[in-house]
Amino acid sequence: MKFINMPNRAMQKSDKKSNPFKASFTAQHVIEAIGQRISKPLTFMEVCGTHTVSIFRSGIRSLLPEELSLVSGPGCPVCVTDQGEIDCAIDILDMPQITVATYGDMLRVPGTKSSLSERKSEGKDVRLVTSAAQALSIAENNPEREVVFLAVGFETTAPATAATVLEAREKNISNFSILSYHKQTPPVLEQLVQDPDLKIDGFILPGHVSVILGHNAYRFIAQKYKIPCAIAGFEPMDILLAIADLVFQHANGQAVLHSLYPRAVRPEGNQKALSMIDRVFTPCSARWRGLGEIPLSGYMLKEEFSSFDTLLRFQITLTSPPPPAGCRCGDVLAGHIRPLECPLFAKRCTPMTPVGPCMVSSEGSCSAYYKYNRGGESPWKKSHLATEVADD
Ligand code: SF4
Repeated sequence: MKFINMPNRAMQKSDKKSNPFKASFTAQHVIEAIGQRISKPLTFMEVCGTHTVSIFRSGIRSLLPEELSLVSGPGCPVCVTDQGEIDCAIDILDMPQITVATYGDMLRVPGTKSSLSERKSEGKDVRLVTSAAQALSIAENNPEREVVFLAVGFETTAPATAATVLEAREKNISNFSILSYHKQTPPVLEQLVQDPDLKIDGFILPGHVSVILGHNAYRFIAQKYKIPCAIAGFEPMDILLAIADLVFQHANGQAVLHSLYPRAVRPEGNQKALSMIDRVFTPCSARWRGLGEIPLSGYMLKEEFSSFDTLLRFQITLTSPPPPAGCRCGDVLAGHIRPLECPLFAKRCTPMTPVGPCMVSSEGSCSAYYKYNRGGESPWKKSHLATEVADD
């Protein structure tokens, strides 16, 4: 059994030297070790959408023993943005002299009646940005307009938003505000482990969020709920080693937090980024698409920065519209079902006609299943040519 993208022997040797996390032949041993140590059915959740995509692209899922299942979690920032949050952004966009700036995939996320990209095609001023700082520049260059930055993401993007708010205050920019839809990872994991209908035997924790948070923020999962956890990087070998670690923990009767990503994650996290978040934001309850309101799982601006809070500035309150009929995004994000079990998957809901955000985002589990596993089987197996090339 091999990785579908396994290179030839010469390449394997140089791969191992230059990047051990891509060395496919080592993976063979790890997969064998997993098979030898697993003694009961286990379900692990890869929390992060980047892990989901890496698992599909490398073919990991098809190499694992049958007793081992992987489910995707709520770690895609676009996917967890609530429908009411999109509706609110569109309501603000419809006010006079408003520019809304946000990151790529957010434009296509459907709200109740429309999406930002649809409103853009109708002539509204929606800007695609790659950073919060870019949104602030738009405000500086367009003093006649109110520029609203729709800020999404977890602990990884919140520090940059915080830095931008500080810069806006320092520069005394009065036509800039943020819709803070930032979310925190640990509270949603705690909600998942408390769900009696969900049986997760281990968590593959997101590497980049862990770079910011460090280790302590997740220890409760192992200590309080006795569920093994492994922090993982994003190369296939990183993920395989995390899976092996979780299997070994079960075999040894352990439930601890291990970091398999020490080359990037320090135990104490990134203190500078954390203090930046702490300087500007305070925890608040937040709505998660399909998962409802989770206490202390969001970030709102502290009172001293309230002039940059879009909701306060425009006196808007978030609504809670019902999800589209048939949409199972919440169940997908909570790991209750796989995307293939949603009745709309690949029928009414496709990447071109998304019903829910999990089909929009490049890191969304529905979009990953659509791209790599539409029939419940790896597309590589359907292609004779692909298999031959892969087995070179
Ligand atoms: S297939 Fe579409 S509607 Fe169904 S869960 Fe995924 S994104 Fe939501």
